[in-house]
Amino acid sequence: MSVSLPTEARVVVIGTGAFGLSVTAHLARTGVQGVLALDRFACASQTSLRAAGLFKLVQADELRTRLAGLAIEIVRSFERDMGVAVPYVASGSLLVARTERHARLIEREVAAVRQWGVEVEPLSSVEAARLAPYLEAGEIRSAAYIPGDIYIEEPSSLLTSCRLAAERFGAQILEHVPVTGIVVAEGAVRAVETPYGRIRTEHVVDAAGAWVRAVARLAGSDLAVMPVRHQLAITEPLPGTSPKQPIVRILDAAVYVRPCRGGLMWGGFEADPLPVDLEPSGDTFSMDQLPLDFRVLEDLAEAVRGTVPALRDAPIQEHRGGLFTMTPDGRFLVGPAPGVRGLWVLSGCNGSGFSFSPALGRILAEWIVAGTAPIDLSAFAPDRFARPLDEATLREAAVYQYTHYYEPVD
Ligand SMILES: Cc1cc2nc3c(=O)[nH]c(=O)nc-3n(C[C@H](O)[C@H](O)[C@H](O)COP(=O)(O)OP(=O)(O)OC[C@H]3O[C@@H](n4cnc5c(N)ncnc54)[C@H](O)[C@@H]3O)c2cc1C
Repeated sequence: MSVSLPTEARVVVIGTGAFGLSVTAHLARTGVQGVLALDRFACASQTSLRAAGLFKLVQADELRTRLAGLAIEIVRSFERDMGVAVPYVASGSLLVARTERHARLIEREVAAVRQWGVEVEPLSSVEAARLAPYLEAGEIRSAAYIPGDIYIEEPSSLLTSCRLAAERFGAQILEHVPVTGIVVAEGAVRAVETPYGRIRTEHVVDAAGAWVRAVARLAGSDLAVMPVRHQLAITEPLPGTSPKQPIVRILDAAVYVRPCRGGLMWGGFEADPLPVDLEPSGDTFSMDQLPLDFRVLEDLAEAVRGTVPALRDAPIQEHRGGLFTMTPDGRFLVGPAPGVRGLWVLSGCNGSGFSFSPALGRILAEWIVAGTAPIDLSAFAPDRFARPLDEATLREAAVYQYTHYYEPVD
């Protein structure tokens, strides 16, 4: 295959998932000439394509709550600002508690996010089941309704819109071009290497998803991140389900459910998830080779059978999965990479990269252009962890964060 590459770029973005496409589009929109995004596979073909498409305003701290709000705002105004529409469903969402402990967790979260400007309304079990008729009220102790939450029916639509916007503003996106080296001299990025040639640049964004650590290592940097598998399923159409019914998150079972293609989508956070080390096979592995396990979804459906009975034995139209990039404290990795000037990181999704990508991509683009961060993102600093990184501890912490997705901990 022959590929015609530029010999020079102002910024090279490695990876065209939700993160890479977002920062590419926002860099180009800001007027940066010579923005080049490269992907080793087809554009937007890896984890982002497999996301559930859920956006969640209720977050564990003020920073993430405000960023979640900004991300929804960017999606809503995407057509006005970027010239391409992003179809989304303003469904709202329900947080559902079936135990006293989780009822108290909801109370705490509601009190906190209200202070940070999120509209949220406590509901009885009967009111919750009226809003989301696929719920049975019986086991529900309490619920909260968040009218501002949204979902994107097919993740490909956000990714396609981002790509179109990026190209519209002059960015170049090249598929099937792996970055195989990053040239560093005197502590600063000088170029990236590909099988088709070298591209000189002073700014590289590592948005390589599950491969983010391997890419950082090409420049002699290292990141505390561990890929962990996550899966979901979509039923065939079910009577009584309609798109505007809210997303439901059942906290004690760590299960989410939403309307999808006339049926229901569900996924969740099993207690014994699968970390996946891409180091040995990273050069050839692609997400369609990820082993999936439907028993995980059966167990999650079983855990909510009294609350979402329709999931039990429903015919399935799709089962898919990809890799979260988990960090030891459950927070993103955004900003300069440790030890290498000009290398930027946009990763550490911890299961929320699809929905935060509009906001974090925009903020990182502004940061690269201005040289200073537009808001304080030190909580996401890629160099915040002790080094050298111990693999066993990293794996254990990643799994711990995964299993506490709805009960965040530091
Ligand atoms: C089943 C499932 C459901 C999810 N649901 C949600 C949800 O509802 N809401 C939410 O916010 N998040 C969700 N997520 C998480 C979300 O999908 C991720 O956070 C997000 O997609 C991460 O995007 P990314 O750009 O980091 O990774 P990716 O989409 O994997 O993109 C990384 C890209 O980098 C490329 N790349 C890697 N190495 C190189 C190299 N050397 N050279 C060139 N290119 C390279 C890869 O080919 C890939 O295309 C879900 C994830 C899964 C698996």
